[in-house]
Amino acid sequence: MSDMAGLKNRGKTKEDVEERRKAAEGFTGVELSSISNYGFGPEAASKNIENMIGTVQIPLGYAGPMTIHGDNADGEFLIPLATTEGALVASISRGMSVINASGGARATVISDGMTRAPVLRTEGIEHSKRVVEWIDGHRTEIDEAVSTTTSHGKLTDIEPFPEGRSLYLRFTFSTGDAMGMNMATIASEAVCRLIEKETGAIMVSVSGNMCSDKKPAAINMISGRGKTVLAEATIPKDIVEAKLHTTAEAVVETNYRKNLVGSSMAGTLGANAHAANMVAALYIATGQDPAQVVGGSMTLTSCECVDGDLYISVRMPAVEVGTVGGGTSLPCQSEALSMIGCKGDGKARKLAEIVACTVLAGELSTLAAQAAGQLGQAHKALGR
Ligand code: NAP
Repeated sequence: MSDMAGLKNRGKTKEDVEERRKAAEGFTGVELSSISNYGFGPEAASKNIENMIGTVQIPLGYAGPMTIHGDNADGEFLIPLATTEGALVASISRGMSVINASGGARATVISDGMTRAPVLRTEGIEHSKRVVEWIDGHRTEIDEAVSTTTSHGKLTDIEPFPEGRSLYLRFTFSTGDAMGMNMATIASEAVCRLIEKETGAIMVSVSGNMCSDKKPAAINMISGRGKTVLAEATIPKDIVEAKLHTTAEAVVETNYRKNLVGSSMAGTLGANAHAANMVAALYIATGQDPAQVVGGSMTLTSCECVDGDLYISVRMPAVEVGTVGGGTSLPCQSEALSMIGCKGDGKARKLAEIVACTVLAGELSTLAAQAAGQLGQAHKALGR
């Protein structure tokens, strides 16, 4: 036990990783020959993991190419997806092929801001009011505190939520092309230290859970977190019948009874068939924080029959993605981002639109499969 503890804080070189892995093998009695077999220098992951002993490989496939007419993503995209769920990539590809045959998908980012909501302890309602008044009168000093921590992050909004002797301050930041969670957290802490000094309120936690990070939350559904993205497509009646072997009416009914009424009955946040599947596969492939699949899971999928054709859309209130920072610079993830032209500066909104269009394709395919009674058959043929 003590040997393992001693190895924890060693360095991040290949030799350090080897030594730690061997100790783990000794401790567990399990030979880790697959975990130790990876193709990049572990220094590349030095900011992404502690106590590294190797990697876990996840199969990577592609869906598409998909035709996207987004405000930021415009063209044909081959979408990298990392998953262990058989049938998923085939299903998304089928949805993309149908959307392509119908002229492609339209997408737009309608809001963009990363939130962090510290909680401060005050003396009560009057003190909380004074703290909020101080904040309202001192935005310049607050912005200066932010600028000491980041050059790309800018504080765009502070929404106060007082409760008893607690004061929640929901900060929203524009974070450039970073997902922004570290950036927002570090900047929020700096602002809170200033507020503490000037008002006597005490920061209890830099994250008071009204942010709300990695938890399904109505506040994110309504106000958005990260990027709020819309995507839509219209599938002509004859394409629905020829390629999806069902009708627009049947897909609309499936969406109504399953995604809308069924989700209401179950009390889900968001109403969709399996948005989290597409979000997880694309997030893992491109180095996003996989825990933020939670935000993507709150997608609302809607379908309507318009002049006999099938209109389908997704509204994703919390697409928390970046094209710099976090896991985006890891070698495989970086290549996957490059496949869709989303590596580096100026690409985060483009990535968010690609996420929404991939979700749209997956939602279309699964809804249509269920409308046609095919879902079980596909999983039997491809996933078992
Ligand atoms: P980050 O890697 O911590 O920060 C982004 C870095 O990129 C900053 O140093 C920024 O510089 C720089 N940068 C360069 N070009 C940029 C551009 N065009 N746009 C924006 N920044 C640019 O990444 P992050 O997105 O803030 O945080 C992501 C990480 O946070 C992930 O690993 C995630 O797992 C983790 N995370 C943290 C928390 C938390 O509470 N701390 C919660 C959830 C997830 P400047 O700062 O000087 O602008």
